[in-house]
Amino acid sequence: MNTTALTDPQREQLRALLEQRKAELLAELGEVQRDTLAVARTAGSAEAEPPGSPRDQANSMASSMVRDAEAARDHAELVAVRAALARLADGSYGECTDCGQGVGVARLLAQPAAARCIACQSKAEARGQH
Ligand SMILES: [Zn+2]
Repeated sequence: MNTTALTDPQREQLRALLEQRKAELLAELGEVQRDTLAVARTAGSAEAEPPGSPRDQANSMASSMVRDAEAARDHAELVAVRAALARLADGSYGECTDCGQGVGVARLLAQPAAARCIACQSKAEARGQH
């Protein structure tokens, strides 16, 4: 046992934070999917009409790329949140996935899905991983 092991109340608090974040992300991703479907329907029904100006098309393409980037980020976070919940279930939550040391309660409260301690996270980012 290391000295930074979580207490049961801390574990429950972090589980609640993760479940809440998961629900938020699922809601956001649901919104994005609905948005995308709405845009696709509009684009299909507009075929018989005169095409929009190139500027309009560029704007709508740019906003679609922003939405895709946001969805990709939400999805990556959702994967991390689900992995954290899985670690909670198997008892490895709170231990750095790289070195096995405690990630630290303060860091987990700020970032409940954090899988690595700060030292390993810095190294991973230096390697180009996140
Ligand atoms: Zn570590």
